[in-house]
This record gives sequence, structure tokens and C-alpha cells, in this order.
Amino acid sequence: MATSKNKGITYQDSVHTHVDPLDERVHGKPAEVKKFATLGIETVGDLLSHYPWRYADSREVTDIASLAVGRNVSLVAQVRSAEVKLAQRTGKPRVEAKVTDGARTLDLVIFMPHRGAADFHVKRLVPGSLGLFSGQINIFNGRLQLANPTYAIFGHEVDEAVALEEAEWPIPIYPATAGLESDKIRAAVRAALEPLTEQDVPDPVPEPVRAERHLASRWSALRGVHVPQTEDDWRKGQARLRYEEAFVLQAELARRRAHAQREESTARPARSGGLLEAFDARLPFVLTDGQVAAGEQIAADLARPHPMQRLLQGEVGSGKTVVALRAMLQVVDAGGQAALLAPTSVLATQHVRTLRALLGDLAEGGLLGGSEIGTRVALLTGAQSTAERRSNLLEAASGQAGIVVGTHALLSDPVQFADLGLVVIDEQHKFGVEQRGRLQAKAANAPHLLVTTATPIPRTVAMTVFGELEISELRHVPAGRSGITTHVVPADNRPWMDRTWSRVREEVERGGRAFVVCARIDADEESDGADLVPDEPATVEEAQAAAQRAPKKPLRAVLEVAETLRTDPRLGGLEVGLLHGRMTSEEKDRAIADFASGRTPVLVSTTVIEVGVDVPAATIMVILDAHVFGLSQLHQLRGRVGRGSAPGLCLLVADAPEGTVAAQRLGALAATTDGFELARVDLELRKEGDVLGSAQSGKRGTLRFLRIVSDGAVIDRARDDARALVEADPELTAWPALRSAIDLQLADGREEFLGQS
Ligand code: ADP
Ligand code: MG
Repeated sequence: MATSKNKGITYQDSVHTHVDPLDERVHGKPAEVKKFATLGIETVGDLLSHYPWRYADSREVTDIASLAVGRNVSLVAQVRSAEVKLAQRTGKPRVEAKVTDGARTLDLVIFMPHRGAADFHVKRLVPGSLGLFSGQINIFNGRLQLANPTYAIFGHEVDEAVALEEAEWPIPIYPATAGLESDKIRAAVRAALEPLTEQDVPDPVPEPVRAERHLASRWSALRGVHVPQTEDDWRKGQARLRYEEAFVLQAELARRRAHAQREESTARPARSGGLLEAFDARLPFVLTDGQVAAGEQIAADLARPHPMQRLLQGEVGSGKTVVALRAMLQVVDAGGQAALLAPTSVLATQHVRTLRALLGDLAEGGLLGGSEIGTRVALLTGAQSTAERRSNLLEAASGQAGIVVGTHALLSDPVQFADLGLVVIDEQHKFGVEQRGRLQAKAANAPHLLVTTATPIPRTVAMTVFGELEISELRHVPAGRSGITTHVVPADNRPWMDRTWSRVREEVERGGRAFVVCARIDADEESDGADLVPDEPATVEEAQAAAQRAPKKPLRAVLEVAETLRTDPRLGGLEVGLLHGRMTSEEKDRAIADFASGRTPVLVSTTVIEVGVDVPAATIMVILDAHVFGLSQLHQLRGRVGRGSAPGLCLLVADAPEGTVAAQRLGALAATTDGFELARVDLELRKEGDVLGSAQSGKRGTLRFLRIVSDGAVIDRARDDARALVEADPELTAWPALRSAIDLQLADGREEFLGQS
């Protein structure tokens, strides 16, 4: 491999070695190269970042007397015999050998695809020769045996001293695949790593940062994880690679942040005598401390000639909408327009209704009886009639509408703004970076950006997923809410189920409204936006336990549940409405209106009600099959009740046997209404892959060592370092290795992960 001591060209050279395709230098046979490809390994760089998933301990060389099933052993023994046998049915060859340590013998078996390969082993395993045999002990026909061991014969193959020394090193165990076992991968990695020097391995973490943080070079970290001589070696190597993952990610986020800060935007300072003042004067409640603080941060951001990049996150029901609206009004006062992007047309329509209600005649600009300083709130969704759409488009383009609310339809080309000054993205997790970019492109100058989340997210996640944004938090809900009580109801407990439905009836008779939430629309439907928890088992034990459990019951569906509830005596003939994603916008609006007015006081719905549906009279929510929903989704869902002055009740009807993760999740939900605490629990209970989405489970350049939940301190340090670096060198021109590491991560789908979480 090309190595040059000349610093000027080292980087170029080493990049080449890194992207070199796997070839005979690493592994001879084309068939083997293909197998590597099935693991996503195509280049030397891929191979070197195919990390062991654990290390087997072989600190001492074992003797045969102390063998136990399941143990990874390395033993020095003498070959007694070796011969090829053929399987009776398939004719597949295997090598059967016996080795001895003098006192006892042990069976060895090596399965081979063809006769030639088997003969090859028999030639190596000459009776009388001494070697080192490593592998896992299992039991076959009542006898201990070592199957498919790796071995080295002393003398002509390896030096005894070297072999014995290496036998004490931790054994890296690699994610493997059929026909490409961990040991083969280990050998290939070693072959690829051996000739490399420090200069050959580009290091995305700049030298000054490494010095400051006492971090090893990437090269020595790779040696540490792939060819460790002690446990300390691989632990240090992992720590360094963990830092690197955080650092590369934070460097990209810092670069985006710096980029936005350099961009120009129209300053939209607050103005006295405008809409915002008029609005504040008529607010029917006092802003919470959190709302005031967030409001001040946002007001200051908007007054600067650079685009605001802010995340507003907080508790369900903490009043994010009002904070966002006040930001929009400041921009309108300054002569600009604000766009509010919602993930669904139900929510967009709901927002328009809420905003108009909050604004009163301030939203009737230009109309008879409207306020003189008033503006208009326009709505643009895909489901509008042509005429309606045309007049709304006109209001947006003319600037008559200071606030334009919409879904994806807002992104489509014909939508023009007179002067777009602020983009608010509500419940961000449904929008990607690209969509965000398209809306921002509709402004002459970069608009200010405010992103709000549906439920609280832990700080480490916010720092990772939304790391380029400044963060404002609303930790508390307004005082005077009567709160919400949550109980888990086992689905197979008849008396509790009876009580559940009679409770629904009582609430409605007292003037309340009841939500009944289902995971599906009808029996054939998979789900309707339900953020279903994947049930992929995490461990072998879990998988076995799952297999033993009775086959899963089908999930309850809206159409079926509504039908049975209509005639269910326990509900005493209450009117039952329906709401789901296959209805038209008008149908949905009517369903919500009927529910709010009490015409249909029971609403059977999918999770379309999850985001933002605000019916203060709703006091009870029954969630069927609650065990299949995600924790933050359940928290968001139950936030729909107990919003008025009457206390809310949430009943989680679930099939979650004690001790399962589902039971823990639901237990946590019943125990606290603190969304930040729940978000933390959720992260702990989930596997990392679920947290970060699909990109994380991809092959290269993804997070292998960094744990977003527990590595907050690492992320903090990496962010500080990355921001300092970017401040000094915004385009990272001095750090090409860092830049190419970023590009590699982004090319692998991290872009998606950054934008969507
Ligand atoms: P979320 O943060 O979940 O989006 P919303 O913005 O929908 O919450 O607010 C929930 C409800 O609380 C709304 O009805 C809103 O009008 C009301 N609200 C907002 N701020 C306050 C406050 N400071 N005091 C009382 N009620 C408030
Ligand atoms: Mg909201």
C-alpha cells in the first residue's frame, strides 16, 4: 500500500488505501470477496470499520480437563489422528480429529464444503504435531468437542512462542455470516491492518483535539479494537472511536450552524403598537415563565440579520402554539410573513382554527369589522377545492395573509410568498431536511426557522439530532390544569374492561367526551400512523420466549370497534363517531366538530388525533392495544385529555404480561406525567437503532460505539471541540480527513437521520 513520509501527499495516498477494493491482498478468492460484500464490506476501509461486537476471553491457555460447554478456549495439544469422513445423506466431507494434552483427548470436527479442502486439513494435522487450537466447546453425542476451531501447528506454520503469546490476547469476535466466520474476518482484518502505518490511516480528529483530550490516533484505535493484546487496548480503542463518532457528527452540525449564522436574513425586530402587543393585551391567560423565557430568546433571534435556527421543545400541552404564534406576529409586525407547516391536514386545519380563535378580529385584516392592524390566516392543504386554494394562494402571494398554514402542499411550486420571514415547523419529526430546505428556498433572504417537537426529547438526543439548532425548552404546563391519571387495564380482565366502558359512559354523562384509540382502521389495515414498537427480539432468550407465547391476537380496528361500541350495553346507546386517515379532510373536520359539540361524545379514532387535536371537554381516553404503541406516542395521545378544567383519565388497555418491555413501558407511563422523564425511560428501554432510525442500522459510517442515551458527556465534549474548530475554520479547509469523514457519513444516509430523527 502506498505510504509516503512526505506530509504533503500522505493524505491523498492514504485515502486511496482506504477506499481500495478488497482484493487478493486481503483475501485471495473472488468467492470470499463476494461474501464480504454481503456484509457490506467492499473496501479496505469498510473492512477496518467492521468492528468486533465482543471479545472472547482467553487469558489463560486452557487444559482439556477443565473444558466446559460454551466456553471459548485456546489449548495447546498434540494431534493424535485426523481423517476425512463423509456425511451419510449429503456426502459432505468433514475432518474428524483427536488431540491430546497428554492426559486426556478431545474431539475436533471441521466441516468442509468439498473434499479438497478437507484433505488440506488432514495434511496439516499430522499425528504427533503440536499446535494451538481455539474455538468454542460444544457437546455432540454426549462428548465434548471443538467444532470448526482455528488452529496453528507449531514449527513449520508458526513459532510456538508467538502462538502462545497471542493465545493470551482477547479474541475479537466479528459479526459474521454463513461461510465467512468470525475467524476468517479476523484474519482478513489483520492482513489489511498489518502493513498500515500511522500515516496511512486518515484521522478525522485533528491532532490538537487529540492532544487536548488525550486520545489515541485512529490508527492505534483500529489496532486496539482489531488486534488487542489486553482488555485495556480494545477499551481505549473503542473510547477513541466513540469520541470520533460524536465528533464527526457534531462537526457537521457545527458547520451547518456556522453556515446559517453567516447567511443573511431580514431582521424582524419587535415593533410597538403592532399585532403582538394587541395580542398580548387580550390573551386570556398569563404566560408561563417558560413561555416568557422562550419568547424572549426568540424575539432576540428574530431581531438579528441572520436566520434564527431554534428548536422549541417541551411538554405536551405546555403551550408551544402560543409561543410560535407570538413569534409569527412579531414577524408580521415587521412587514414579513410566517409559514406554519404541520404534518397532517387535520392538524393544519386545527391550527388555522386555533390561530383564528386566539387572534379574533386580529385575523380579519381587510374585512369589515376586522382590526385595522389585523392580518389574515390562510390555509393551504392538498385536499382543498380549486377555488378555495386559488384564493388562499392569492392571499399568500399578495402578502394579505401574514400567516400561511399548510401541509406538504405549501412546498409545491405554485405557492409564492410576498415576503416570507419565518418558517415554523410544527412537530418536526414528520419533516425531513430536504423539505425544510425547499420551504426556505421560497424566501429571497433565508427566513428565520423555528422547529417545535411533539413531545419532549432528552437533551442528548436534541443535541445529536437537532444539534445545529439552539434549544428553548418548556418544562411545565400552565398552572390550573387538573392533570391526568393513567391506568393499565389488562385486556383479558373482564371486570376491569366492564369498568372501563362504564367509566366512559359516566364521563360522557357528566358532560365529558371520550376518545377510543385503535392501532388500525380496519381488519386489513396494517396501521394508521401508529408508531408501532418493533417487536424484533433483542436476545435469544427473548426470541425463544416470544416463540412460546400464543400467536399474537390481531389488533383492534376503528371500524370494528365503533360498530360494536354502538350496540354495547355498557355504553348505554351513546353516539359513536369515527376518525381515521382514510377520511377526506371535510369528513375529518366534521367528525372533530361533532365530537367537540357533543353530537358524538365518543370518538373512535386512529392516532390521527395524536398531534394537536384540542378538545378541552375531552376527559377520558381509552387506548386499545396500548402495548404496540411507542411511549412518546402514548404520552402525546393522552395529552389530548385533561386539557380543560376537569381532570383527565387515560386507560391503557393492553396485552402486556408482567416482566416484558411493554409492561415496563406502560408502567412508566402510568407512573409519571413528566414527558422529559418518560423520554429518558423510553430511550433506555429502546434499542439504539429505534432511536436513531434506519440510518443507524446501515453498514458504514453509522454510530457503532456512541450511545446517545448514556454518552452525554462524550457528546458534550465533542460538541465543544467541534464548535471551537469550526469557529476558527468554518469550512474545515485545514482538516480534509474530517471533511471526508463527514461526507462518508452523510453519503450513508446520516443526512436522513439528522433531519428526521
Ligand atoms: P402544545 O405545547 O402541546 O402544543 P398547546 O400549544 O396546544 O400545547 O397548548 C395547550 C393548551 O394550553 C391550549 O388550549 C392553549 O391555549 C393553552 N395555553 C397555552 N398557554 C397557556 C397559559 N400560559 N396558561 C393557560 N393556558 C395556556
Ligand atoms: Mg402543539
